[in-house]
Amino acid sequence: MALIVEFDCTSKPPSIVILEAHQACSGATARNGGQLKPDSFHRASSLARDYGIDAAEKVAAFKAKHLAAFQSLMQMENLSVTLRSAERMMCILTRVVSLRLEVDNYQDFIDKGSRTVKKTDIIPQELAESVSSVIGALGGLTYPTGRLWPYKFVMQLLERLVSIGINLQTYTPVLGVSDSTHANERWEVRTDRGVVRAKRVVFSTNEYTSTIAPQYKGKIVPVRGVCGRTVVPNPPEHAMENSYILRFNDWHFDYLASRPDGSIIVGGVKPTFYHDTAQWYNNTDDSEVSGSAIRYFDDYMQRHFHDWQDTGAYTDRVWTGIMGYTTDGLPYVGIIPNKPGQLVLARFNGRGMPQVFLTAEGLAQMIVDGVGYEDTGLPRLFKTNKEPLENQKSQILSGVEEKTM
Ligand SMILES: Cc1cc2nc3c(=O)[nH]c(=O)nc-3n(C[C@H](O)[C@H](O)[C@H](O)COP(=O)(O)OP(=O)(O)OC[C@H]3O[C@@H](n4cnc5c(N)ncnc54)[C@H](O)[C@@H]3O)c2cc1C
Repeated sequence: MALIVEFDCTSKPPSIVILEAHQACSGATARNGGQLKPDSFHRASSLARDYGIDAAEKVAAFKAKHLAAFQSLMQMENLSVTLRSAERMMCILTRVVSLRLEVDNYQDFIDKGSRTVKKTDIIPQELAESVSSVIGALGGLTYPTGRLWPYKFVMQLLERLVSIGINLQTYTPVLGVSDSTHANERWEVRTDRGVVRAKRVVFSTNEYTSTIAPQYKGKIVPVRGVCGRTVVPNPPEHAMENSYILRFNDWHFDYLASRPDGSIIVGGVKPTFYHDTAQWYNNTDDSEVSGSAIRYFDDYMQRHFHDWQDTGAYTDRVWTGIMGYTTDGLPYVGIIPNKPGQLVLARFNGRGMPQVFLTAEGLAQMIVDGVGYEDTGLPRLFKTNKEPLENQKSQILSGVEEKTM
């Protein structure tokens, strides 16, 4: 997405301009691993520790709704995108200590009264390798997940929007938004092609938000991610039916999802760059990938999966993209404090797919129907408010040294 300005949403078509700095859909959404993964345990249990079980459950249930929401929008708009939604994520662990921790956390979360965790099943140690086909698997978790190609999805939606009269301007970076409203109550949005005046401005500018909304400086940090595509000349007897997370320790994990053409998208790759903070933290360069990240994918499937040794699987593409990371791992959504008419929809970290879509719908309700944040059904933990903006402590870098030793 990009920066959206709105003049009149009651007119037909609504008077909306989308200002995009680069090509349409060229940011993280176009570059991601395609996993629509509403994690019903990991993230939820850590939120329960920090904010209480009710708030955590609300977030988990909100994410879970995304699978059905994508499905129904795709049907309604007749989009030609394959959504694989009836499958399980296999989160596989290869260390005994991680497995014990995971099982304890899981039980603790159930004891706290979690309902959403019931979607998650434990894979016992004795079955782990045969169920998952992962070499050295010691156990794990499974939960419902989906996958799709987000670029294809977004571009088809954009096409429909443009066809009904929404004004999309690409290669038009926003340089700044006025500090206060004009006498006629419109914000001034500056670009090098001129000024746009709008009643409402939505910042859906991901990691770049702080460059045009300075109050978010240090609160939305650009962090690089890496993905690769593996092609499989001689597919194994049993094709990869599930999506996977291979968790090697508490900071090193990769995620894998197969595509309808049989290729596999693998994301993660942290050991190749995590030791060098400048390579990934506060870095907005999505133009090139380091050589070691490329080599990381050599024989990846053969090294980690049984029955893949003779497949000739190799990586034909590796790319990088920038995510908007946050101190607390939560998005910022809603009206920007002290800026009525300016709204934000950002900070989705590395998990935008099961969050951005319905969050945007909630934000649209605020604009179109004039409802307050609390009446949108959005989780209260997503609401942007003064508290996180004034909290200067960043947890993104904490522990990096010990993680990479
Ligand atoms: C390599 C990689 C793999 C990932 N894998 C997954 C995954 O498998 N599952 C998952 O859920 N999430 C994944 N993510 C995260 C996910 O892609 C993001 O959370 C999500 O795409 C964020 O969407 P967005 O619309 O906020 O940001 P973006 O898609 O980055 O869009 C922001 C847009 O704003 C534009 N912009 C910025 N500044 C300006 C300006 N000043 N003026 C105008 N326009 C501007 C940018 O050009 C960009 O097009 C991954 C991310 C990366 C990088």
